[in-house]
Amino acid sequence: MSKEYALETRCVHTGELNDPQGSPHTPIYNSTTFAFENTADLLDVVEGRRAGSLYTRYGLNPTILSLEAKLATLEGAEAALAFSSGMAAESALFLAHGREGIVCIGDAYGGTLELIADQLPLLGIPTHLLLGDEIERLDPLLAGGARMVFFETPSNPALEIFDIAALAAQAHHRGALLVVDNTFASPVNQQPLTLGADLVVHSATKYLGGHADALGGAVCGPQDLIDRIFHYREINGATLDPMAAYLLLRGMKTLPLRIAHQNQSAIQIARYLESHPTVEEVFYPGLESHPQHTIARRQMAGFGGMLAFSVKGGYEAVAQFLPRLRYAHRAANLGSVETIVGPPATTSHVELTSEERAAMGIPENLVRYSTGIEDPADLISDLEQALAAI
Ligand code: PLP
Repeated sequence: MSKEYALETRCVHTGELNDPQGSPHTPIYNSTTFAFENTADLLDVVEGRRAGSLYTRYGLNPTILSLEAKLATLEGAEAALAFSSGMAAESALFLAHGREGIVCIGDAYGGTLELIADQLPLLGIPTHLLLGDEIERLDPLLAGGARMVFFETPSNPALEIFDIAALAAQAHHRGALLVVDNTFASPVNQQPLTLGADLVVHSATKYLGGHADALGGAVCGPQDLIDRIFHYREINGATLDPMAAYLLLRGMKTLPLRIAHQNQSAIQIARYLESHPTVEEVFYPGLESHPQHTIARRQMAGFGGMLAFSVKGGYEAVAQFLPRLRYAHRAANLGSVETIVGPPATTSHVELTSEERAAMGIPENLVRYSTGIEDPADLISDLEQALAAI
């Protein structure tokens, strides 16, 4: 289905197989392999002359290919690859395109930081972590040979916003690729490729699936860049399971509805928290008080369902009020239909020491809040009674 159709329509229809049995959904093909009439037909698919299903570890499976078509259209990309998790997607992407050096800007998911800071250097890949206010260090690193700039916007957990168009121009000036992790925004709220990014990566486990019942990852971008990543996935075997592909396909059909609701609720919750006496600071790009609110307004169609806030009284206060929340799961996930809360210290950034978290500007009294699709008034009254415990 072409891009002239609205995102809502493409979320429902793009990529779905025209099932001869009449099923409106792409069926789950659990087959690991697909048979051919003769070796000439087989070779056509193996050598890429004809698209088709072949062997599931290659991702050449109808359910996975269906999902990839939907992922590509949502990000306005020529092609997309699905992976067994967001971390698998990042690993393949960094190995395929980041060997000459990666610069990661701002705070990011703890697993991503560990991959970039600890694991990739063991393979001889030079990596650099810059804080959000150290962007002046980027150009010398690019001039020194780094060929990939990577960041999350909004970032996990403190919702920092980075200017995609400006950083793409800076990266391209030195011949580097710009990669954006679009997990927090989702393609409904932000389209990094149209702003100049070369590749977009997702933890599809989060908003794309939306129901906390399937792990998955994705990389979207131009065919030539995707082809190189394809080869890494094919050999490393970080392929998505067809059952998970089916669940992600199903979840993505309601993505725009969920995101519209979560956008609306999150701003109400952020404003409520901003006026609460025991709340120290609220981090939400839709608030006028957010330091990069102007950039967010320019590059986002909505500000998303993720917010963070710090409470007075340190980590003890967090530990006191979190268990009192009735309509929020205390968990490590985000982007689901149910509201999820967690301090980064014990969830998204548990891999880091408290000193490392402090150095990244992640205070111990921070709470990350992933707004679900519950009624926002109910979520606010739940917060009200829980915060009263502090
Ligand atoms: N990117 C972001 C922004 C995340 O929050 C996460 C996980 O929380 C990941 C990537 C990794 O995704 P996954 O857990 O699907 O491997």
